[in-house]
Amino acid sequence: MSKEEIGSYYRFYGARHSILKLGHLIDFEIDDTDRRYLPRLRSLSHMGFPWLFDHNRVLIWHNFIRLFKPHLQDAQALEPFYFELLLEYAKKWHKQNPKRLVCEAYISLLEFEGRVYNQSRCYICNQPTNDSISLIRGLKQVHPECVYSPTLYKIKFERFFELQKTLYMEESEVEIIYDVVMKGL
Ligand SMILES: [Zn+2]
Repeated sequence: MSKEEIGSYYRFYGARHSILKLGHLIDFEIDDTDRRYLPRLRSLSHMGFPWLFDHNRVLIWHNFIRLFKPHLQDAQALEPFYFELLLEYAKKWHKQNPKRLVCEAYISLLEFEGRVYNQSRCYICNQPTNDSISLIRGLKQVHPECVYSPTLYKIKFERFFELQKTLYMEESEVEIIYDVVMKGL
């Protein structure tokens, strides 16, 4: 992914070491001299972040970034928002619990795409929700009885939505939201 597009490139693994991994920020040139094949990446250089040697942070980064491909696959041209969002979060990925950052980044994405569902009504049955809610894809509120999934306090969830920060949420609540995001953007 670059600012304007998601590219599929062929990486020539001639070298014994491979530095290209999913979700790494790289600087490259594209070699498309042979049109029969996917363009090759040339002059690859890797832009490092301090968290790249932290296994858990890298894992959560991969889990997050892999959601973008299915989400954006039909987009011909990309808004710079997506690249900038990922860059912004990559820069602070080592500073906070990355699952919290995933939740916060996702709110920005929903807002950017005009998909915020901030109604206190169940998305499934359209009746008002109560103090305890569950969430479905897109962080839409539903009754716990209408789906089979973990519950959250509505008041805390709505605060998270409003502040776009997970500051007041317990780790267990962050886990619940993170798991919903992992179902797809
Ligand atoms: Zn319902």
